[in-house]
Amino acid sequence: MKVIAATTNRGKLREIERILAPLGYKVVAPPERLEVEEKGESFLENACKKAQAYYEKFGIPAIADDSGLVVESLEGYPGIYSSRFYAVEYGGRESPEPSPDKANIRKLLRLLEGREDRKAKFVACIVFHSGDYGLFSCGECRGRIAESPRGEGGFGYDPVFIPEGYDRTMAQLSPEEKDSISHRGKALRKLARLLERLSP
Ligand code: IMP
Repeated sequence: MKVIAATTNRGKLREIERILAPLGYKVVAPPERLEVEEKGESFLENACKKAQAYYEKFGIPAIADDSGLVVESLEGYPGIYSSRFYAVEYGGRESPEPSPDKANIRKLLRLLEGREDRKAKFVACIVFHSGDYGLFSCGECRGRIAESPRGEGGFGYDPVFIPEGYDRTMAQLSPEEKDSISHRGKALRKLARLLERLSP
């Protein structure tokens, strides 16, 4: 089945492709980025908006991911604001230099400085929208925030996220290792099982 990935985030695109291709899906990148207002109050609501917008624009089944990092001791932040945490008022704004991802990490480490409770989880909600029907699934990956960034793999907060049961950060895992435990891997595999049940 051909599906369009409702994202232009390269890290996410790579992972969606990598996880769904072996399950028989041809994942295509969108020819252009759509401005979809992510004003929902949850990952699921935002993912629904993106899947619907991409399906309506391109006319093929769309898969959208809305995801982020949830830190209990920071009242759930960065949460749905994960991609632009550096710019939100909570905890004070940071300059986006040298990149938004690095600025997000800098702010997170600043807010957690000296704190013992560094528990965190990645959450991903995936929505499939085909016009005829919609499906969703969510996945979580629990862990904690490291004292400083380590590793070159992955994207976003991966260099400071240590999954439960590991002493390496997500950015130090191989792509296969990350996919096998990640929030996105879990959510996408569940979604693929739902789609299988519906196919004739
Ligand atoms: P979205 O595009 O609004 O869903 O933003 C997702 C943001 O959450 C990304 O820009 C990252 O900052 C963060 N994020 C989501 N998934 C991951 C992951 O697998 N690794 C690291 N950061 C992630």
